[in-house]
Amino acid sequence: MTIEKVLAVLEKLAPPAYQEEYDNAKLLTGNRAAICTGVLCCLDITDEVLEEAIQHNCNLIVAHHPILFGGIKSITGASYVEKILIKAIKSDIALYAIHTNLDNVIQGVNNHIAGKLNLINCKILVPQKNTLAKLITYVPKEAASAVLDALFKSGAGHIGEYSEASFSMPGTGTFKGSDKTNPHIGVKGVREVVAEEKIEVLIPVHLQNSILKALFEAHPYEEVAYDLVPLLNTNQWVGSGLIGYLADPLEEVAFLRKLKKEFNLSIIKHTTLLGKPIEKIALCGGSGSFLIPAAKNAGADIFITADIKYHAFFDAASEMIIADIGHWESEQYVPEQLFAVLTSNFPNFAVLKSTVNTNPVHYFLG
Ligand SMILES: [Zn+2]
Repeated sequence: MTIEKVLAVLEKLAPPAYQEEYDNAKLLTGNRAAICTGVLCCLDITDEVLEEAIQHNCNLIVAHHPILFGGIKSITGASYVEKILIKAIKSDIALYAIHTNLDNVIQGVNNHIAGKLNLINCKILVPQKNTLAKLITYVPKEAASAVLDALFKSGAGHIGEYSEASFSMPGTGTFKGSDKTNPHIGVKGVREVVAEEKIEVLIPVHLQNSILKALFEAHPYEEVAYDLVPLLNTNQWVGSGLIGYLADPLEEVAFLRKLKKEFNLSIIKHTTLLGKPIEKIALCGGSGSFLIPAAKNAGADIFITADIKYHAFFDAASEMIIADIGHWESEQYVPEQLFAVLTSNFPNFAVLKSTVNTNPVHYFLG
């Protein structure tokens, strides 16, 4: 099996196109075409994790955090990042990062955190914009079904849990080919009138090229008429943070206890308790300060995230509780999630989950 085959599964779950602009989620070292000897899933790539991969003969490490993030102008081994890159390349280990793209898909990092807290009716907190388009095309009646099949197969027509969603309408098309044409129906130089179907499908913008290629291949005309319309609709399945509900509301302290237990936390940094039950929960694995206004607007009782700065805690403004559980702690189950996805796709392949605790932060509890 190639590294490409493993990455194809990950990129179907979390298309790289959905990563944030500042991010660097991709294959960082190595070759997609190389044979994969085994995969190690982790949160951070450290020297210990690299050693673990070498020991278990895994030549692909899939990490949440991209080790190569900012610009790098020399690779001399002066920093820990450079040391790891040199060691990975020398050991012929491919490094792959699946970062904010995994944060942003509805079945990603935040969904896994929500699962640990048994949240229900989860939705993306801030859905992404400009990721959807409408493709409209006109097809002679007898070819409509084959064109629809090709569009669906290439990724068009997905709406949430529904696939193969489309709208068709019968109508009449006309055309007249020049001397240089070879029309599929009729003859050149004569206006042709044809019974056609107008087909409309929703497409994810990042699949536009492959969907159009499929359309052109399946459509019988030599000139395919189509409209690609950008949509103002937000994408309900892609975006930042998640909001969901507890089936049974909990008193604040009881909820914090549950959170502490499920995530095995030493401490939770939080704002003033408000004396009301916790039912609506917003969350974001990793650094989620930027979502405080959205969580508040959505009416969350509590916002669970990490890396909250002192002044940002004031933004809770007695309207909700902000709980900072620690960056590593909030994302500690990502390797388990990646492991589950890969083993379900490749049940007989060597997929491992790192046993190294890469948290660089320790708490002195006296
Ligand atoms: Zn993170």
